[in-house]
Amino acid sequence: MTANATPERTQWVSRAEWVADGVAMLEIWYGQNALMACYLVEGTRRALIDTGTTDSPTQAIAPALAKLGRRIEDIDLVLNTHGHVDHAWGNADLKRHAPNAPISLHAADIFLRHQTSLLEFWHKRRLAAGDIDAAAMASHTQQLAELADAPAYFPIPDRTHAGGDVIDLGGGQTIHVVHTPGHTPGSCSFYVPRARALLGGDSLTGSAGEGRFPLLSNVVTYRQTVLDVQHLDVEFVGPAHRYPFRPPAATVVTPARQGDLARTVLADTLTTALDIEAGTAEAWQANRHGPRRALVADALIRVGARLGIDLFGSDHARAAVGLWLDVFGAPPHSPA
Ligand SMILES: [Zn+2]
Repeated sequence: MTANATPERTQWVSRAEWVADGVAMLEIWYGQNALMACYLVEGTRRALIDTGTTDSPTQAIAPALAKLGRRIEDIDLVLNTHGHVDHAWGNADLKRHAPNAPISLHAADIFLRHQTSLLEFWHKRRLAAGDIDAAAMASHTQQLAELADAPAYFPIPDRTHAGGDVIDLGGGQTIHVVHTPGHTPGSCSFYVPRARALLGGDSLTGSAGEGRFPLLSNVVTYRQTVLDVQHLDVEFVGPAHRYPFRPPAATVVTPARQGDLARTVLADTLTTALDIEAGTAEAWQANRHGPRRALVADALIRVGARLGIDLFGSDHARAAVGLWLDVFGAPPHSPA
C-alpha cells in the first residue's frame, strides 16, 4: 500500500449483537483483523466497557451502537477494563461524543497512559503486513515519542474504581467490579449479575493456541485472579479478544462464550494459569543467577511446552518476551 492509497480510517469496521440480558458486544475490526470487543451494559443508564484505540469510538463504536438503535452520545459512563492501548486509548475520542460521561479506571493502571510499546508493536505488525509503508511507520514512531510524554488519546481518568464497587445502572441492572490483576496491575472484570455475565477484558484469556498466549505482568496474581472468579454464577463470558481456547470452547469463533462454553473458558483459564505459574517457577529455579533474557526465554519455552505451542513461532509470542521481563521483577514502567 502506498501513502496515496485509501486513508487508514476507512478500514475500521464493526459488528454488534445482544449477547445477554441488557448486554451487547461491539466488536471492532481494523481491515481483516478483529482488534477487540467493547461491551454495552444497559439499565436505565448505559455503560460502555472499554473504548478501543485512538479514533475507534468515531470509526467503529458509534456505527456499532447505531446498529442496535443506540447513540454514542447517550453513553452515561465508561469503564476501562485496564489501561492498554487497545482498551483505553479511545477515551479522548469517546469524550468528544459524550463529554458528560465520566471515564473510570483502576488506579493501578494509570501509569499505562505513558506506555506506547504495545502501539509500536501494532504499527510494526501493520508495516509487516503491508498496511502502512516505511514513511508512515517513521511518522508513527515520531508520534509515539510525543504520546509517551503527552498521552493525548488517554487523558487522566475522571474517576477510579476498585474491587467490590457496585455500579447501579437503574432498572435492576448493576455492575460489580472484580479486581482481576495479572494481565496488568489494575485489570478489572465487570460482573453483571442480572445477565450472569462476566466481562473480563484481557483478564480471562483462556489457553494458548496459534502461537498466542496470555500476556501477563504477574503470573502469581494472575492465578489468584482466575481462582477468584471461578465461584461466580456465570452464563456468559465476554473477553475482549478472540482468544483461542482448548476444545470444545475453541470451536466458537467469537470473543464471547455462553452456557457451558462460558464455564469451560473459566476452567480452561485456570488450567492455563497454573501451567504458566509452574513453568515460570521452574525457570526461576534454573536461571535466577543468569541474564534476565535467558531467564525469560527459558520460561517461555517451559510454559510453551506445557501449553503445547511454539512460543517463538509468532510475533505475538516474541513481543511477550518484553512483557515477561516484568514477571521476574524488572524495573517498573515509566511513572505516571
Ligand atoms: Zn491488554
